[in-house]
Amino acid sequence: MYDVIVIGSGPGGYVAAIRCAQLGLKTAIVEKYPTLGGTCLNVGCIPSKALLDSSEHYHNAAHSFETHGIKLSNLKVDLKQMIARKEDVVKQNTDGINYLMKKNKIDVHQGVGSFVDKTTVKVTKDDGTASDIQGKNIIIATGSKPSTLPFIKIDKDRVITSTETLNLKEIPKHLVVIGGGVIGLELGSVYGRMGSKVSVIEYMDSLIPTMDRTMGKELQKSLKKIGFEFFLKHKVTAVESKGKEVTVKAENSKGETVEVKGDYVLVSIGRRPYTDGLNAEAAGVKITDRGQVEVNDHLQTNVPNIYAIGDVVKGAMLAHKAEEEGVFVAETILGQKPHINYNLIPGVVYTWPEVAAVGYTEEQLKEKGIKYKTGKFPFMASGRARASMDTDGLVKVLADAETDEILGVHMIGPRTADMIAEAVVAMEYRASAEDIARMSHAHPTYTEAFKEACLAATDNRALHI
Ligand code: FAD
Repeated sequence: MYDVIVIGSGPGGYVAAIRCAQLGLKTAIVEKYPTLGGTCLNVGCIPSKALLDSSEHYHNAAHSFETHGIKLSNLKVDLKQMIARKEDVVKQNTDGINYLMKKNKIDVHQGVGSFVDKTTVKVTKDDGTASDIQGKNIIIATGSKPSTLPFIKIDKDRVITSTETLNLKEIPKHLVVIGGGVIGLELGSVYGRMGSKVSVIEYMDSLIPTMDRTMGKELQKSLKKIGFEFFLKHKVTAVESKGKEVTVKAENSKGETVEVKGDYVLVSIGRRPYTDGLNAEAAGVKITDRGQVEVNDHLQTNVPNIYAIGDVVKGAMLAHKAEEEGVFVAETILGQKPHINYNLIPGVVYTWPEVAAVGYTEEQLKEKGIKYKTGKFPFMASGRARASMDTDGLVKVLADAETDEILGVHMIGPRTADMIAEAVVAMEYRASAEDIARMSHAHPTYTEAFKEACLAATDNRALHI
């Protein structure tokens, strides 16, 4: 009998397993695929960032090296090699999880995990053989899968999801992206930088619509520069595929039908929680109408010894959110009292410029009736950004009008994915804008833009604009 069985080895599941083992619990992990690491390591965060990095190198070589005084001739993309390097990066990471499981003495069971009852999990291997394992506690970490619209048939050839987009054999001439959210814009950028025409069709009136609206507007301007075109406020009504041509039909706000033709269409309208094959009913675990495993504030299901974490429960579908929840549940099982501040989970879009945010957006503050002040600093005014020719974007700080406490930080610009960590720390310690404004930031760094935006929010005291 295990103390804990974790079903699913994504960032939620494998981190939960490690923390359980660290706390001295006898732990097993069940994973249906041959490699560990889940969506994030195999077909999500890691491979997409590998391709984003490669395509960024190419784009810089093609478009800005000459200005730097570096001359190249015969520059070409070797897509096969690019994808092979990406695969190698994935392997290094998934092998790393194998090592961590061994190091922490966690038993790995390969096969589909399904509930027999509330303490028994049947593990069915690909060859059909099955065995039962028992656990006092069970953590469901089965993640998510790409979702689609009922009238779209994903053929995985021309009409594809993020998974296939990470493994294309050719650079699309024209990639049509349905959905202007994080995944569509990141993968659109990969191919856009290498010469594909990219058309993004988005139902809402802004890109990355859940983020602060300034970010969507700024990102749209930057992506236009690399050849993206946008159809905002367009509702996709049909996707047709004939030979090598795909046609996406969408209705604009006037009710007219617009047709966009390309050679590939990426359907990136979001992800759905995944519980197929889990047989949750056998344990009596409740699934919501939206397909999520229902949990309380302790991430406990309606069955007290069964917990659920990550993409399969409510909240942001992010790897680091899943990881925090993995640690939280392990410590909860041991009777500790952990805490997650969901408002301070940062969100990042790895386009160029990168977008990163934490805390409230301006729209949310208005909706809540909280009085706030705004401080902005454009990267155009940053010496570091000018040195690297990365001057698109800005940092925007929202602080409480009376107390000066930082309530939200929204950044678009170079390396903001890393810069946002400073804002998270500041906000966890409930810093005021002036606190940050009075701290020394190394010169010249991009981080000075955050300090300057804080100075601007404090008392309109930015020094370099
Ligand atoms: P998952 O990673 O989905 O893992 C679930 C695992 O459970 C899978 O391995 C699955 O095979 C296994 N499983 C399911 N059912 C069973 C069963 N019955 N038995 C056994 N095993 C089972 N997030 C970020 O934070 N940053 C990013 O940059 C980022 N980029 C992304 C890019 C792309 C293209 C995509 C698709 C996603 C990206 N995400 C990113 C989201 C991130 O991948 C997810 O939020 C994260 O993987 C969720 O972790 P999880 O542990 O909940 O589930």
